[in-house]
Amino acid sequence: MTTRHCDIVVAGGGPAGLAAALSFAARGYDVTLLERASERVLEQPDFDGREIALTHHSINWLERFGVWARIPVADRSPLKTARIETGAGGSNPLLFATPDRSGEGVDALGVLVPNHLIRAALYQAVCAQARITVLTERTITTCRSGKQFASVTCDDGTVVTCRLLVVADGRFSAVREMLGIGAIVHDFERSILVCRLRHAEPHGQVALQWFDEGQTVALLPVADDDVAREGGGHRSSLVLTVEAEEAARLQRLEPTAFETDVTERLKGRLSAVQLLSQRRIYPLKTVFAHRFQTDRVALVGDAAVGMHPITAHGFNLGIKGQDILTRMIVNGSGDPGDPAALRRFERRFRQETVPLFAATNGIASVYTRDIGPVLALRRTGLRIADGLSPFKRFVTGLLMDRSALR
Ligand SMILES: Cc1cc2nc3c(=O)[nH]c(=O)nc-3n(C[C@H](O)[C@H](O)[C@H](O)COP(=O)(O)OP(=O)(O)OC[C@H]3O[C@@H](n4cnc5c(N)ncnc54)[C@H](O)[C@@H]3O)c2cc1C
Repeated sequence: MTTRHCDIVVAGGGPAGLAAALSFAARGYDVTLLERASERVLEQPDFDGREIALTHHSINWLERFGVWARIPVADRSPLKTARIETGAGGSNPLLFATPDRSGEGVDALGVLVPNHLIRAALYQAVCAQARITVLTERTITTCRSGKQFASVTCDDGTVVTCRLLVVADGRFSAVREMLGIGAIVHDFERSILVCRLRHAEPHGQVALQWFDEGQTVALLPVADDDVAREGGGHRSSLVLTVEAEEAARLQRLEPTAFETDVTERLKGRLSAVQLLSQRRIYPLKTVFAHRFQTDRVALVGDAAVGMHPITAHGFNLGIKGQDILTRMIVNGSGDPGDPAALRRFERRFRQETVPLFAATNGIASVYTRDIGPVLALRRTGLRIADGLSPFKRFVTGLLMDRSALR
């Protein structure tokens, strides 16, 4: 059995955990990050189908912590317009365009980057930080929290004690459960199938969210590759929300049968599509922890708030949560487990997340229930919303989140 001591233990090496480790190390704390996956997985994560729409707040944070420059420029795809449609026809869409603020360096609503490249870049930045020790292939099996310190034990017998335990082990967090912290879990009883497609016509940097009857489709503009530049067709990410059995059936289809199915489903939104990647499936469950802190413990990332991907905020809230946490700790007594600072973190992060979580779940429920009155309501809703400039400015602000730049 090995016992170590450090200022901060981060449980989980996903994006939120890696970001938290970087933030705390930059403020002079010694950090031990525990991750159940291997070092190879952290170094070279496989493509997982997720294309993350980064807000300006996240991009700003990634720049400050030396991560942004590690993401290849050729893989960044600016989002110029968000287009929302309901029903089969696609008439009366709700459009959110990039506000004209090129003078302030704003030329996109956000930037779309593949998740696996963000994770690789975060890990490279972590490896360049001498204050962070990464212990891989360790699954946390028990943990304790107390007034003086917290401790975790891993499946190989490693024990680490610390002054603050940052829980970042994802939305179905085992560590959260070990600490006795409950969570509101909402099961939408749907699955999300994601993959990359090639298609002839350009996407125009438009992200489409289309609430059709029986399915919700997002088409996200992926950056052009050499094939596209040579006229061989552009790339989009398909995010398809359907019943779990339907997602599994689509995943099993032969590629050509899948391409035919998707081309028909899109009802002319793209011409014939070609499958470019593996098809990945994610169950659609959202999670909101009952509390974000307890003695010498703070929850960040999906372990705190696991969002519905419809408003593209999960990763962004992960960056924001750990940013708020480190700021509160640094502005407190200096003890990373300072209870007053942890309470301030909880208050502030709750203010940030409660309205967004409730609104996102509300939108997701209205726009995925295919009963008559709801269908009529959403068609009318989009028409009215498109005519409301203050509403559109508010939503554009949420999509972009430029809070750190103000
Ligand atoms: C299809 C899809 C599209 C999305 N699009 C967007 C988007 O556009 N914008 C956006 O902001 N967000 C988006 N998200 C959400 C975003 O991907 C997540 O919010 C984010 O990845 C969560 O990061 P995390 O670090 O909190 O958790 P995770 O990525 O789940 O990482 C948790 C880590 O903890 C490790 N771990 C787990 N248990 C243990 C244990 N017991 N011991 C040790 N290690 C452990 C795991 O191996 C893992 O590495 C999307 C999600 C999906 C599914």
